[in-house]
Amino acid sequence: MTAIDKRTWGIGLGLAVVACVLVPNVLSSYWIYLAITAMVSAVIMQSFGVIVGRAGVMSLCQMSFAAIGAWVVLRLNLSDAPGGFLLWLVIGGLAAVPVGVAIGLPALRIRGVNLAVVTFGFAVSADIVLNANQFPGTEELKTLNRPSMFASNGKFFILVVIVFVLLAVLLEFFNRTRIGMSWRELRYSERAAAAHGTSVARSKLAAFALSAFIAGVGGGLMAGQLGLVVASNFSMGQSLALFAVAILIGPHHTEGAIMGGVFGAVMATILDKLKLPQDLGGLLFGFFAIFALRTGVSQTDFTRARKREAEGRKVLAALPERNESEKAGPVVAPPVGGAPLLEVRDLTVRFGEVVAVDGVNLTIPDGGVVGLIGPNGAGKSTFIAAVTGFLAGYEGNVVLAGQSIDRLSPSARARLGLRRTFQTTTIAPELTQYEYLTIGAGRKLSKQEADELLDFFGCPPGEVPVSIVDVGTRRLLDVAAAIAARPKVALLDEPAAGQSAAESLTLGRRLAEVPSRFGVSILLVEHDMELVRAACAKVTVLDFGHVIASGPTREVLDDPAVMAAYLGTADVPLV
Ligand code: ADP
Ligand code: MG
Repeated sequence: MTAIDKRTWGIGLGLAVVACVLVPNVLSSYWIYLAITAMVSAVIMQSFGVIVGRAGVMSLCQMSFAAIGAWVVLRLNLSDAPGGFLLWLVIGGLAAVPVGVAIGLPALRIRGVNLAVVTFGFAVSADIVLNANQFPGTEELKTLNRPSMFASNGKFFILVVIVFVLLAVLLEFFNRTRIGMSWRELRYSERAAAAHGTSVARSKLAAFALSAFIAGVGGGLMAGQLGLVVASNFSMGQSLALFAVAILIGPHHTEGAIMGGVFGAVMATILDKLKLPQDLGGLLFGFFAIFALRTGVSQTDFTRARKREAEGRKVLAALPERNESEKAGPVVAPPVGGAPLLEVRDLTVRFGEVVAVDGVNLTIPDGGVVGLIGPNGAGKSTFIAAVTGFLAGYEGNVVLAGQSIDRLSPSARARLGLRRTFQTTTIAPELTQYEYLTIGAGRKLSKQEADELLDFFGCPPGEVPVSIVDVGTRRLLDVAAAIAARPKVALLDEPAAGQSAAESLTLGRRLAEVPSRFGVSILLVEHDMELVRAACAKVTVLDFGHVIASGPTREVLDDPAVMAAYLGTADVPLV
């Protein structure tokens, strides 16, 4: 936890204590009731924070999960189950989890608006079921038994605040786990997450499960507040309005969850006082949410990003000019005599009539840097995609360290030690470089290790957010993140694109050092011949999916056939 995090937590807990002292003792009973409403909404906002804010999944049925929590709590209350309200609350939350996972299962195949429709469909059917059946205790007029310690509304407010804080701590813990980290990337790019070894399925299901749990607890709290609940407390309209608030405010940050809760509660009251229909609130939120959806940035993200970017710019401004020539000198490409580490045999990829990769054989030896070159459209990126599992339907075999990996998913291959970068970078701009490296590494990196990697690849200091580094540097960061995982082999797709000739050569020098320094072997896809000459002792040339030459770099690049087919008669590559 950084110093800033600690301070933020300190301030947050301080405010929570102040609220717990002031609200019950100073406010009138009307406002205490409203404060409870706001905090219960804030808990439900936390559930939106996980699924919408973190994982970027459009879920419109969070109130249905809340209804399950409320139902279970009231059912246990009706039968005077042992344990009391606090235990029932947890059970109510847990009861929503399997339903959350069940709703999450279709989310593995569909996304975006289609998923929103599926979750909304569930919300509608839940609505119908709830309207046809009363909540337990309604008929018997048995209202919820609050624990004696929190019986009054003032005391119950304190309980809701405590639950909110506990959930905030739980979320903070989750956000630091591998799955929690992966959500931040998932929201931005699923394929990047998979390339970093994240199982997209597991990650999404975990988000559904956790968000359903929190919503269930929120529903239980609502039952605690109202004594008895009715179907309209959990209507799909509510889900929709809260979803809009979530998009707008960004409840994945604690302050956002509270703002969302207060906003929702106060809005309803204002509409009530003005004698306007409640649906108007949903309409207004929906209107604002369109703006948030268009920019893709919520209020809290925006505020935090601005602050971080301002700090990042200061760090960048204070940097001394980098002097690359210091490191100049002859580059020695590592030898390629090691044992075969990655073996690709007879790889063929077809896109309909087009044979993008045609029976390619390629071996990357342990400790080697092997080049893969060829004009645009030769099949280089397709080769990487197939080898790393992103194209399921290929013919041929991929063997990593003696193990056949043809049946494995991209994330499983990544976890086995096969990493890739993409030709177009897919780094979530809201992350800092440290955070991105940690996601890439898939483990906790020490600051020293992260600093060393960033320095080695010529990236700015780690606290600088990705949003303010240029595209060329993002590519280097992508390479650094792939190496941070210490894979067996890293497949780099044109890492030097967008770099000047001098920068490109510097990168070549660094890549040549990677095997001995980090124990990672490399396949380098490049256009820049100087870079390939510098870093690779061996190179394979593709043209229209075929291997037209393969062997020691110098021999291959000077081969007249290669010159003719690839370089043409001009001095520059035909790219
Ligand atoms: P390179 O990376 O060497 O520039 P690619 O691997 O991107 O080449 O493309 C190789 C060939 O495969 C090209 O003819 C391209 O149009 C085709 N291709 C690549 N991806 C697809 C796809 N998803 N669907 C159809 N054709 C594709
Ligand atoms: Mg390509």
